[in-house]
Amino acid sequence: MARTAPDCLFCKIVAGEVPAEMVREGERTVAIRDINPQAPTHVLMVPRDHYPDAGAVGRADLGLMDEIAREAHEVAVVEGIAESGYRLVFNTGAGAGQTVFHVHGHLLGGRGLEWPPG
Ligand code: 5GP
Ligand code: ZN
Repeated sequence: MARTAPDCLFCKIVAGEVPAEMVREGERTVAIRDINPQAPTHVLMVPRDHYPDAGAVGRADLGLMDEIAREAHEVAVVEGIAESGYRLVFNTGAGAGQTVFHVHGHLLGGRGLEWPPG
């Protein structure tokens, strides 16, 4: 049984109840284009199962983080940003800017990415 949470936007996107531009569909993850892109490539790596944040995934299903990273790299290759460089970030907690509490990695690339980030 898939883990879902009521009234979760990304659970609804995974279920096809809310439309999104699907970039890649894996067995345990989907990749969707961010509705408000912060870079030429801005794709959200979203596990099908609901976990509120990266900390919760790490405690429950470490392999899922590996899978998100692997899928993100596949998307980066297809998007043409694997060689120029990309960033995969998980905002974890409201204080770090998390607004959707269904874990997702932001895959960003296609422009210079300053470090440290703002
Ligand atoms: P967070 O702030 O939680 O790290 O990231 C949430 C991301 O989800 C934001 O970058 C925001 O633009 C994106 N987002 C919010 N609502 C939607 C939506 O309905 N569809 C898509 N594709 N992205 C969304
Ligand atoms: Zn969810």
